[in-house]
Amino acid sequence: MTMVRTLPCLLLLVSGFAQAAPKQPNILFIFTDDHAPHAIGAYGSKLIQTPHLDRIANEGMTFERCYVTNSICAPSRAVILSGRHSFHNGQMTNGDVFDGSQVTFPKLLRKVGYETALIGKWHLKSDPTGFDRYEVLYGQGSYYNPRMKKDGKEVKHVGYTTDIITDLSLKWLKQERDPEKPFMLMSQHKAPHGKWEPALRHLGALDDVEIPEPKTLFDDYAGRTSSAREHRMGILEHLGDGRLMLNYSSKFTPEQFKVFDGYFRPRNEAFLAKRDSMSKQELTRWHYQRWIRNYLLCTRAVDENVGRLLQYLDESGLAENTVVIYSSDQGFYLGDHGWFDKRWMYELSYRMPLLVRWPGKIAPKSKNRDLTSNLDFAQTFLDLAGAKAGPKMQGVSLIPLLKGEKQTDWRRSLYYHYHEGGGHGVARHEGVKTHRHKLIHFFDKGEWELFDLKKDPDEMKSVYGNPDYAKVQTRLLRELERLKKEYDVPAFVYGSHKEIQAQKKKGR
Ligand code: CA
Repeated sequence: MTMVRTLPCLLLLVSGFAQAAPKQPNILFIFTDDHAPHAIGAYGSKLIQTPHLDRIANEGMTFERCYVTNSICAPSRAVILSGRHSFHNGQMTNGDVFDGSQVTFPKLLRKVGYETALIGKWHLKSDPTGFDRYEVLYGQGSYYNPRMKKDGKEVKHVGYTTDIITDLSLKWLKQERDPEKPFMLMSQHKAPHGKWEPALRHLGALDDVEIPEPKTLFDDYAGRTSSAREHRMGILEHLGDGRLMLNYSSKFTPEQFKVFDGYFRPRNEAFLAKRDSMSKQELTRWHYQRWIRNYLLCTRAVDENVGRLLQYLDESGLAENTVVIYSSDQGFYLGDHGWFDKRWMYELSYRMPLLVRWPGKIAPKSKNRDLTSNLDFAQTFLDLAGAKAGPKMQGVSLIPLLKGEKQTDWRRSLYYHYHEGGGHGVARHEGVKTHRHKLIHFFDKGEWELFDLKKDPDEMKSVYGNPDYAKVQTRLLRELERLKKEYDVPAFVYGSHKEIQAQKKKGR
């Protein structure tokens, strides 16, 4: 009698337990380099269609106000791994070497049972740590026939790098990982970073399309301090022959070269024959069309490869329990303000794309407008896995936002600090952004800018010192100081390069 009564109870307990135990979701982090939100359909791009990236947005959430803490490649990656600002994780500029002994989110994921892999672009100089498996490009990598470092050994590949990184990612997912464990895969592309060499299959694909020019292509930088004028990232003046594909970066195979050069050479010869007779305005326009087409085609290859990964998740049945994240290390100027490149705290290089799909948890077609940051990624991934954040991490988990839970006390400002002075003529600066305003301090030059993003979304006229904005200015100056305290910004970061290096050495 007792047996009869206990058995169903036990069964109930067992099945109840199975339901209650949350299955740790897999994490697929697809990451690119220099992909501006305004070159993604889901962000309203007028330049290109990205159906596969848009699918992530349609089935998940688009973060419309995600910002980088320091708008440049290697530092952004280090912030994502460590969940700490550049001045604490040590990767302040592209020139620094990442300290791989520090706590990173992949290391903490392994502790809670995840298998972790990194495939593609790494760009942090030291060897990757915290991964069961890695295969990474050396440095910036090349668009064709990349050399890669696989668990310490060099491997050579033949083909288009964006496709190869996806091939290797799929191979790991299908054949190499342990299917008993939850996985975290970072599939990271060189594209669409310069120098922009499209895939052979895409050559000429945009030739019949006149890409719309940004309205600020001929910006004269009046209305801002001297900093913007001193740039060296001009579409007209600084792209140079290599970035315009008048010469090529990759080492092609003879077969690839025949197709690639066969496309570009006659077009280059026609341009060079008339270059000297073109006006500055004509040249700017030609440079823009030539360059943006190649940038967009590199992006098209990314989008197609995102589609391949999504298709595999569908076919394998993994889609349901896999969180897919798409992001890029910062935004980029696509001729906006007459520029290419990044670094500035101005919106278009400051904002980064962030699309997240999490079936059953994120409502389809969600949009989030809270102030979020790459500083939050590490803690979000750890939270997904049910792991604790590292004790020194400085971000906030985005899980409540993903679940659409209304937040009343979410952050209302962000701190920014660009450390790498000089590159492309961009002076070091720090600043604070709120939903409506932005204060920038070019501290080496003693120059300040203040923008009202509601009235002046293109940031054409600084209102710093304008009496109408006296209150806003005071409030933001105070907020900047508060954030510096909150994030514990050390005084040495305002010193010379030499002083900073000395201090960093001392710190170790
Ligand atoms: Ca980048």
